[in-house]
Formats: sequence, structure tokens, C-alpha cells
Amino acid sequence: MKKVRHVLGISGGKDSAALAIYMKDQYPHLDVEYYTCDTGKELEETYQLITNLEIYLGKKITLLRAADGSNEDPFDHYLKMYGGYLPSSNSRWCTRKLKLDPFEKFVGDDPVISYVGIRGDEEREGYISRKTNIQSIFPFRKNIWSEDVIDKVLANSNIKNIQDLYISLANPSKKSNFLDLLRQPISPNFTQAQKLKLLLDTNTKELNALVFAFLKTTSYPLANEVSFDLIDNEDVLIRADIFRILEESGVGVPEYYKQVDFEVNGKKGQYARSRSGCFFCFFQQKIEWVWLYEQHPDRFSKAMEYEKDGFTWNQEETLSELIKPERIQSIKEEYLKRIVSKKNKIKSPYLIDILSEAEEEGCASCFI
Ligand code: SF4
Repeated sequence: MKKVRHVLGISGGKDSAALAIYMKDQYPHLDVEYYTCDTGKELEETYQLITNLEIYLGKKITLLRAADGSNEDPFDHYLKMYGGYLPSSNSRWCTRKLKLDPFEKFVGDDPVISYVGIRGDEEREGYISRKTNIQSIFPFRKNIWSEDVIDKVLANSNIKNIQDLYISLANPSKKSNFLDLLRQPISPNFTQAQKLKLLLDTNTKELNALVFAFLKTTSYPLANEVSFDLIDNEDVLIRADIFRILEESGVGVPEYYKQVDFEVNGKKGQYARSRSGCFFCFFQQKIEWVWLYEQHPDRFSKAMEYEKDGFTWNQEETLSELIKPERIQSIKEEYLKRIVSKKNKIKSPYLIDILSEAEEEGCASCFI
């Protein structure tokens, strides 16, 4: 059996930071390698978070830099290669070049378990590597497995195999309806998601043990492990838990999540940044651009410098148009209206919950 590496990427966001703390606290004997991909364009708060985390974890976080050896920042290096073509949600060369490629180089061909901080209150699926030697695990969710693994385990064509495997496992609780559920084929009236939820609700640990036993018959990285502590994990962590972990550990919540007061037309509001990543990230909302302009004017000016030769960060307007006083006012007014209507719907006192839509848009590599 090959030696399996356990890795955890720190994006600079709250969820991956909290996951690093959680893994150290819950699984102290697991030798987790922490890494971060530096684009060269992060906010100062991100670097501070990484320093705080290193102190808490008691180990170095490996800094991965694309285009190592170039005399430019990784982002600038690749921007030049792309002829000044700014990345966008439709053409996200930055994630591939600055995050995924350095990560895949870092792990090479070793079998790797990559821990990802997608929370129990999120709908999105994580990044599934194109490389078969990298397997993602999601400790904050009830379902810790990636979609590709669940697809294989619960495939109708695998029912006989999985049922035999279940029966062969020591101590299956035969009185439960777990086995009946396993036997039930997926159909338009009984979807894979429904089947998975029922199995998890019936017995999470049993399902995890079964998936692990199944993986042992495959070439997935976990096939190389004799045991895997996370099969006993039944924790589900949501947004409030993440803030609690960060505060209680002393690592702290990255400064950019902290709400700042503003006033527009006599009305008071608060804004913050909802995510980590490059300060000029095209995924940010208009109000976050205004936040950047007002809270980090130097960074905003730098973002403006990239807008040339017809390339812009936003499709509808340039940054110089966005910061016209009347435009800032309308962005703030619009934002306040949205907050009020969302507050009425979700009844959460946390601004971060209201910003959650924005938070979930984007890529797992940059924002978790
Ligand atoms: S944070 Fe945004 S701009 Fe930076 S690499 Fe990620 S997607 Fe690209």
C-alpha cells in the first residue's frame, strides 16, 4: 500500500481556516499538510490570517506560488501570457493557473486526501480533481464523501455488490431498514439525493463504514489506508460554528468580514467583504467594490490600473464609472433595499447570512 498524504488548502477564507483548526483539534494524530496558493493579490488580512493559523497549528503552511522563478507576482505573470485578458466567470484562467495547477504539482502522483471546508448549510459541491490520485473529503457535512464516490456507491448497477459488502461487514445493525434502503433502486420517484439523505439519517456511521469498505475495492486514495477516523464523524457545522471556532481558537475572523457602518440618504447600513481571494476578484458584488474603494482605496486604484485596452472587471461598467458619487449612492441604496427584503425572508441577525448568496457564487479553491 502506498503512503497517503492528507492535505488541506487554506484559501484565506473563514471556512478553510476553521477546518484547519477543527482537524488539529479533532484529529491531532493525523499528519495534515497545510498549503496556500498565493496569487500575489490577496488582501493584507489574508496574510495575517495565515500567520495566526501557523501559530495555532504549530506548523508551517506551505506557500505555493504559480510561475515560481518569475520576477512578477503569479497573477501579473499569467495576465501577460494571456495578453492582458482579465479573467471573468466565463473565462476563469486564474483559478486554473494560480490555484489548481500549483496544487496538482504540489501533490504530484501521491495518493492524497484533500480536506475541504464546505459547510453543512451549503448546497454546493466541491472541486473534484481531474487527477484520480486526489480524493476530497468534507468533514463539515453530514455527507463527507464527494459526489463521484456517492455516484458509484449508490449506482443501481452496484446494488448487489454494496448489499453483499454491507452484509459482510462486522455487526451491521440488521434490524434497521438500512439494508432495505440499500436495495431500493434509484428512479425518478426515488432520487439518488433522497436515497443518500435517508441512509445518512438512518445511520451515518454505518454508511461511512460501508463507503470506506467499498473504496477499499477501488483505486481511490483511501484504498491505501487501513482505517479512516472520519468514518465516525457525525458533525455538521454551519456558518455560526465557523465564526465560533475562529473566535474561540484565538485565530480570529479575518478583518474583511467585519461589518463597517455607512450612511446613505440618512439611512444607515453596514457592509463587508463576503469572501477571501484576490482584492479585484470579478466575483465580488457591486457593494463589495464600493467597500474596496472606501476601505482600501490603494487596492481599488490598483484594480483600476488593470482596466485597459478594453478589458474591464465588470461587464456593464468600468471601475471609474462605478465610483462616480451618484453611482456609489445608488449601489448603496440598492444594497440596503436588498438587505431589508432578504432580512424579512431569512430572519437572521447576521449580515454574513444575508451576504451568503454572494459567498456561494464562485469557486471553492478561492473562497472556502
Ligand atoms: S479570487 Fe477571483 S480573481 Fe483571484 S484567482 Fe480566485 S477567481 Fe480568480
